[in-house]
Amino acid sequence: MQLLSTRDSRASAGVAQALLAGIAPDGGLYVPAQYLRFLPDEIAELIALPYPERFMRVLSPYFDEFNCETLHGFAREAYAKWPGATPAPLVSLRDCMMLELWHGPTGAFKDIALQMLPRFMALACQAQDRAEEVFVIVATSGDTGKAALEGFADVPGTRVLVFYPLDGVSDTQRLQMATQTGVNVHVVAVRGNFDDAQTGVKNLFTNPELIETISKMGFVFSSANSINIGRLVPQVAYYVNAYTQLLNQGEIKKGERINICVPTGNFGNILAAWYAKQMGLPVARLICASNENKSLTDFISTGVYDTNREFILTSSPSMDILISSNLERLLYHLSAGDTERITVLMKALEDSGVFDAGPEMKTALKDFHGGFADMSVSHAALAKLWHEEGYLIDTHTAVAYAVYSDYRAQTGDNTKTVIASTASPYKFAGSVAAVLGVKPGADEFQTIENLKEETGLSIPDGFDGLATAPVTHSTVIGKTDVKQAIAEALNFTPKP
Ligand SMILES: *Cc1c(COP(=O)(O)O)cnc(C)c1O
Repeated sequence: MQLLSTRDSRASAGVAQALLAGIAPDGGLYVPAQYLRFLPDEIAELIALPYPERFMRVLSPYFDEFNCETLHGFAREAYAKWPGATPAPLVSLRDCMMLELWHGPTGAFKDIALQMLPRFMALACQAQDRAEEVFVIVATSGDTGKAALEGFADVPGTRVLVFYPLDGVSDTQRLQMATQTGVNVHVVAVRGNFDDAQTGVKNLFTNPELIETISKMGFVFSSANSINIGRLVPQVAYYVNAYTQLLNQGEIKKGERINICVPTGNFGNILAAWYAKQMGLPVARLICASNENKSLTDFISTGVYDTNREFILTSSPSMDILISSNLERLLYHLSAGDTERITVLMKALEDSGVFDAGPEMKTALKDFHGGFADMSVSHAALAKLWHEEGYLIDTHTAVAYAVYSDYRAQTGDNTKTVIASTASPYKFAGSVAAVLGVKPGADEFQTIENLKEETGLSIPDGFDGLATAPVTHSTVIGKTDVKQAIAEALNFTPKP
C-alpha cells in the first residue's frame, strides 16, 4: 500500500519508510492512498477468531510490506501479559458501552499502539536494510510519553527522548516518566504547554541540517506521536475488534450501525474510528468530545478552526490541546486529496492560528458531532455514574460521557454507542478523588490508596512501586531549547 503526504501528492512512501520517517519531508502527514474495505461478511467472519488474528486482519492490508504471520505474532506478544481475554474489554452501562482501552502497563489507551510500534519499527529497519539506530522523539501531554518509554525501553537499536510540559501533567504522570529505567531513554520537562512542545518537535522533522547531523551519527529520526501512521493502524484494529465483541455478545445484529464517542485531544483516536468506518465498519456518528480547549467543537459546527484562544489547564490534561495534528489527515480525505488546499490551510494555521475550511468541508463533516464539557459538567457526570451505576471513570472519559449524555438528550438518538474509555481512574486519582469527595493524601500515592479504600477497585500493576522508585530524569528546559536537549541526549554540539 502506498502512503501519500497530505501536502504533496507526489510524495509517496511505502509503509516501512513512513514508519521510520514519522512525518513526510514537506511537513505533511502520511495517509493511506486508498481505504481498504471490509465487506460486512468479512466482519462477521472475524467473530470466530481470537483477537490477535482479528488485529492481524486489520493491520495486514495497511502493512502489506510485512509478513502476515509476523504481524499476527506481534499482536499475540504485545498484549500477552495484559489481564483478561482481550486487550480492550467492553462494559455495558445503562445507556452506553465503555470500551476500556487502558489495561496496559501505563494505564492509558496509548499502550495498545505503543506496545506494537517498536516492533513495527524494528521490522521497518530490516525491510529498508538500514543499519542506523532509530531515534524516537516524543512530545507528550502526559500519557504518550510514558507509554512510549515503556514500549521502547531497552529495545535494541532504538533510543527514545520524551518532552513533556512541566506544568501540564498530573503527579502520577510526571513520576511515571521521571522514574523510567532503561539504557536508551531520556526524559525532559519543557517550560511551556503541550502545543509548545509539539511544535518544537514537529519543526525538528523538517530541519535538514539537524537530520543530517544525526544521520551522520548513525541515527534515523522518528516519532512515536500519533502523527506516525504506525500509531493509528492498531487503533483502527481495536474499533473493529470492539464491533465483533458486540456481535459476539449479542448486543448488536450483523450490519447494525453504532455510534462511537471519543474524548479527543490530538484527534488521533477518533480519526482511527473514522478510518474504521471508511473500511466499512457500520458506524453512524462519531462524537468528538472536548474539554474547555474546544477548538474542535467550534470547528465541527462552523468550519472555522481557530486556535487563537486561551489555553486552559483542566483535569483532563491529555486533552489540553488547541492544535490537533491529526485533523490535517481528515481534511485531506474530506477534500478528496486536495494537497494544495491543505498546504494553504496549514500555512494559515501556522501564520495566523486560524483557517476557514469553507462550506463544502463543513458539509463533509456531517459524520461528526462535536461537543464539549467543562470541568463542572464532566465532574458531575463522573460522580453520577459512580453513584448511580457503581462504575468509575477517569476525568477524560468523563468528558466523553458528559458530551454523549448531552448529545443523546438533545437529539434523542438511541443508536447503541461505544465510548472510548481512555485512562484508568487511578491515573488521575487526584482529580477523581476530589470529585468524589475522597480525602486527598499527603501525596498522589496516598490519594490512590484512599480512592481504593473508598471504591474497592483494584489498582493497576503499573502503579506499584511508583512512590518509592528513584527519580532518574530531572532535566528542565525552556521551550526554545528542544534542539539543545537532543544534542545533549546524543552527545554532540549543535550549530547555533
Ligand atoms: C491521549 C489521550 C486522549 C486524547 O487522544 P487523541 O488521540 O490525542 O485525541 C484522551 N484521553 C487520554 C487519557 C489520553 O491519554
